[in-house]
Amino acid sequence: MPATELRNRIAEHVESIALVNTHDHLTREDYRVAEPADLLSLWFLHYASSDLVSSGMPPQDLEQMRDPRQPLEKRWRIFQPYWERIRNTAYAKALLIAARDLYGIDDINRRTYRALSEGIAAANRKGRYREIYKRAGIEVAIWDVLDPRPESIDTAIFAPTIRLDNFIGARSRGEVAGLAAISGVDIHNFDDHLRALNAHIDRHARTIFAIKIGVAYWRPLRFERVGRGEAEAVFNRVMADLSQGVSMEEARPLQDYLMHHIVCRAIDHDLTIQIHTGIQEGNANLITNSNPTLLSNLLLEYPQARFDLFHASYPYWRELGLLAKVFPNAFADLCWVPTISPRVLRTALEEWIETVPGNKVSAFGADYIFVDGSYAASRMARQAVTDALCNKIEEGYLDEDEAAGLAAKYLRENPWALFGLDRWRRQRRKPPSRAKTRR
Ligand SMILES: [Zn+2]
Repeated sequence: MPATELRNRIAEHVESIALVNTHDHLTREDYRVAEPADLLSLWFLHYASSDLVSSGMPPQDLEQMRDPRQPLEKRWRIFQPYWERIRNTAYAKALLIAARDLYGIDDINRRTYRALSEGIAAANRKGRYREIYKRAGIEVAIWDVLDPRPESIDTAIFAPTIRLDNFIGARSRGEVAGLAAISGVDIHNFDDHLRALNAHIDRHARTIFAIKIGVAYWRPLRFERVGRGEAEAVFNRVMADLSQGVSMEEARPLQDYLMHHIVCRAIDHDLTIQIHTGIQEGNANLITNSNPTLLSNLLLEYPQARFDLFHASYPYWRELGLLAKVFPNAFADLCWVPTISPRVLRTALEEWIETVPGNKVSAFGADYIFVDGSYAASRMARQAVTDALCNKIEEGYLDEDEAAGLAAKYLRENPWALFGLDRWRRQRRKPPSRAKTRR
């Protein structure tokens, strides 16, 4: 049988799968449509913008380039030389895919940027998220809201999570006061602090589908087992300080204690814990903080918990594969990887097919703030999954039925089960049905 026939058949099957997107950050739609949007202000909010800076663009030029109140021509002139430097990266390829498929524009260059920009501005209207998700074949996304009110979201396509980084990270009186406001619980002592955290989780537990922890952006993922007394003593120092609060180093035992507390609460509520591991967005961070093996003690201590470990822990994807292979409570999530490197997605899958049980991997999460990026990520993920499966068939490792079964698991069934999306299906706000509109 010719190889292209096989590829076409697998591609067609992969194309037919309604995706579960394990992670997206789309700005609330009412906020987005209230702001002007164009090529340079919207598509360079993140990712490709970090490549621009890494290629040499001064950060103040990035700010000017993104400012929609300045003339587009002037901003293009700032942008263009750096664009030439980054157009080889997968972040840039994602934008080129979105330009081609969603706006019918083949390239981003001095002849096309105005038309593309106008297209993006015209598309900045209500309903765009549903429209693009439909086009991408995304049924539902776990939505990392970056907004303390997950009840404000479109549950027809989003299943929300809440981030608890602010509860772990508070190390000044001002930050603690902010948590009191979010939770509705006055915080005077450590008991109150835990009560506030519990109240916040309890209030949202029935409407969220995961708890998100993103602290690897600012501390290592090793959370020691700390006695309550030690944590309370740090908390008391936070409350006694009238200026900046305590240092990051001093705050560590308190943060460690709170992380263990959160894992216990996630177990109580049967919620999966999504943890950022690996590559941090931006241009200045400590990658070693995000090594997933730092989580080993939590994985050992909480067999009842479910840990969904993000971004293939890139570049520690081998370590992540090992954790997912060994620990029943560790799950490997390839969100953001399609647009970091389709090659890494493909290679990781090819190895994990041999090492990790088929129920432990989720292969698609877009991780974008703007929906055109989510679309491009879906295209790149479907392609990389198709390539990985075809390679394994051609190696003689999988037969075609096995490959088709894995595709459905990786792109849909595994995350559906991991986040308990049957409940989402029951709770979701239904789009107006035909029967109703006829009546
Ligand atoms: Zn993210």
